[in-house]
Amino acid sequence: MTTYLQGLTCRECGARYPAEARSACEECFGPLEPTYDLEAIRAAVSRETIAAGPASMWRYQAFLPAERDPEVDLGDGFTPLRRARRLGAELGLPNLYVKDETRNPTHSFKDRVVSVAVTKARELGFETVACASTGNLAHAVAAHAAAAGMDAVTFVPTGLESGKLAATAVYGARLVEVDGTYDEVNRLCGEAADEYPWAFVNVNLRPYYAEGSKTIAYETAEQLGWRAPDHVVVPVASGALLVRVAKAFRDLRAVGLLDEEPSVRVSGAQGVGCSPVATAFAQGADDVRPVRTPTTIARSLAIGDPADGMYALREARESGGAVEAATDAEIVEAVGLLARTEGIFTETAGGVTVAVLGKLAARGVIRPDETVVAYVTGMGLKTLEAYGERFRPAATIRPRLEALAAFLGDGARKGAA
Ligand SMILES: *Cc1c(COP(=O)(O)O)cnc(C)c1O
Ligand SMILES: [Zn+2]
Repeated sequence: MTTYLQGLTCRECGARYPAEARSACEECFGPLEPTYDLEAIRAAVSRETIAAGPASMWRYQAFLPAERDPEVDLGDGFTPLRRARRLGAELGLPNLYVKDETRNPTHSFKDRVVSVAVTKARELGFETVACASTGNLAHAVAAHAAAAGMDAVTFVPTGLESGKLAATAVYGARLVEVDGTYDEVNRLCGEAADEYPWAFVNVNLRPYYAEGSKTIAYETAEQLGWRAPDHVVVPVASGALLVRVAKAFRDLRAVGLLDEEPSVRVSGAQGVGCSPVATAFAQGADDVRPVRTPTTIARSLAIGDPADGMYALREARESGGAVEAATDAEIVEAVGLLARTEGIFTETAGGVTVAVLGKLAARGVIRPDETVVAYVTGMGLKTLEAYGERFRPAATIRPRLEALAAFLGDGARKGAA
């Protein structure tokens, strides 16, 4: 692999560091971000070289912070961008697309961030990867560690959906439930990262991890024929995805892959029971006040104290987007709407996105003339508990034609008037 990575730079004070396992600035505690030689990328990378790359997110390797080793790639990313005509008709958005992240190897967009982080962990010489997770991250870490022949230790809050627990433990990963909120799990992992020689993908490897999120935007532009959309709707947990999506469109322009300066309005989506960023947006506040006890059914988004919350808030505001929240009932209705109109079954986080998409369209924040992309980030089989009795069999009948006729009524028969 050719690398264009130059090192890590503090987002707040600009201090520079070598590309090692480190996530915060020693001077000011600001978050660190990889920086790249964009001029060299511009000279080496074209639409053609990308098209000739693998049918996974690794076709964008030049923009990723992995240096030497072969990537740990389960076929991550390069998911379909579906023209959503039927959903668009319901919402009054004729130019709507859905990026279908349910198709990833572990059925959520977390495969993108983990593919980068596990590749980097191996390159830095780690033998064990770990994470603080709301569910999907643990699943993705466990699968990628197994494929890379590494050990995995994953930490989750109690009370997660059973599908996500089984789908993590099955790979042989050590799955540790912590009796507390995600924020308490995350704090524990921060302390554990100092004690154990592990690569916590979203703690000490967070700068690399977050970069994987950019690929969802690169693919979007490529799939739109090398154009940026006008408006995107992104679910927000830590805020990393939203912030990286916004940045990724600017990167593409900086290396000459987009003909025009992108002007993408970026909107965020949260669940009402855990919506610190949406609350700050509504109040016009500059700070994101943490939510102590998240209650939303969108458990994968239930981060009360989001690490990138303030940056996500700024991106939404400065781009002319909005951050909005959906109630549990709205989330479940939106899951049904997406499934009925587009044939895509999403987890609760996707319901949050589609519900917020609908609300922002109804309020005129998202306009009918805009090309809109909604990021549907995870698959519905992972959150069956949350749907309870909502999606059930229409009937249970005896194996007899009379029983079927009794259920259907007369009007359904061939030749009925
Ligand atoms: C983690 C996650 C998100 C949001 O991720 P952040 O980058 O932490 O904001 C969105 N959707 C799903 C399904 C997730 O698992
Ligand atoms: Zn700093």
